[in-house]
Amino acid sequence: MFSGLSPQPADGLLRLIVLHRDDPRPGKIDLGVGIYRDDDGATPVLKAVKAAEHILLETQESKSYLGADGDVGFVQLLEPIIFGAEMAGSSRLGGVQTPGGTGALRLAAELVAQSRPGARIWTGTPTWPNHAPIFAGAGLEILTHPFFDAETQRIEFGAMMNALESAEPGDVVLVHGSSHNPTGAELDEGQAEALAELCARRGLVPLIDLAYQGLGRGLEEDAGLARRLLAACDEALLAYSCDKNFGLYRERVGALWVQGQTADATQIARDNMLVVARGIWSMPPDHGAAIVRVILERPELVALWHAELDEMRDRISRLREKLAESHPLFAGAARQTGMFALLPFSPEAVTELREMHGIYMAGNGRINIAGLTEENIERFVEAAAPLLRV
Ligand code: PMP
Repeated sequence: MFSGLSPQPADGLLRLIVLHRDDPRPGKIDLGVGIYRDDDGATPVLKAVKAAEHILLETQESKSYLGADGDVGFVQLLEPIIFGAEMAGSSRLGGVQTPGGTGALRLAAELVAQSRPGARIWTGTPTWPNHAPIFAGAGLEILTHPFFDAETQRIEFGAMMNALESAEPGDVVLVHGSSHNPTGAELDEGQAEALAELCARRGLVPLIDLAYQGLGRGLEEDAGLARRLLAACDEALLAYSCDKNFGLYRERVGALWVQGQTADATQIARDNMLVVARGIWSMPPDHGAAIVRVILERPELVALWHAELDEMRDRISRLREKLAESHPLFAGAARQTGMFALLPFSPEAVTELREMHGIYMAGNGRINIAGLTEENIERFVEAAAPLLRV
């Protein structure tokens, strides 16, 4: 039976991890995989997370099953952070815990596919490479609109809006909530307002992918676009990840919310989410969500988490500024937010940087800014600037 399967190429970023690991050169620079790194290149467990794990170790009395919706307290405690105090707890919001942001996106796509046979979803070009397989796996038709031009380092807003004007009522529009992956580009206030107005006017359903809240401009600021879209539109979905802002990557911590037109419609949508979830993963993994809940239940751990999140964000912002100052070709980095920048390197330049200079990045020219340090940034700029395609 398995002879019917065709060979698959190795995942580009995983291949990069192995190449970097096996590179003996001392000054090698890893800008590949999208994880936060500190000045020593490490991704340590947050102190707030360690403290919560201690508490769980001492107090957790059972590992028996929860339910398909996971840790309900975790979902409730995230609501004010994401949706703001006014919307938190609203009967028009129905949330469930999911295995990471990826699980939330897949569950959203499955819900859309069940609600609307032949459903279509719009994604920007470029977007996180996993979006297409996640949505296609649920049977959605994927349409693309222009989003970002790496050579000018600008959002192609006019072209994006023109494309979305041709969307049909009921189409889903994927929007990165903050710190766009792979570009770091963010809509300004006016653009965000215009997008919200278009979605509302044309009856489009935003699916907001909020995977980096707090790592861009701040927790409140990074929720701004999501809140605006939810306020403008009757129906929306929000897929959330705690894997970056709590440094919990491998614990797979996420949640999906649906905003329905009424409380009843929301309840029905949430019940359907649970039926779908039971057929895919039955119940989400507990440990990471329990950690987040334990933190959010305790003001002293919330304060510690905020301080650690601020430190991560400040380090990324400092590196962005330094990169922008170091060469005019990198000026865009200061306008953008979050861990990623998409630089106009040809595939040959990406290979040359890796082979000649020990600088590792994704094949499309995406760099993880957090992989830079005060020490290696100049070496990166010297090697990279002459190879930019501008
Ligand atoms: N959305 C985007 C834009 C991402 O970059 C990522 C992680 N790389 C995710 C969702 C998924 O996050 P998680 O690891 O929680 O599944």
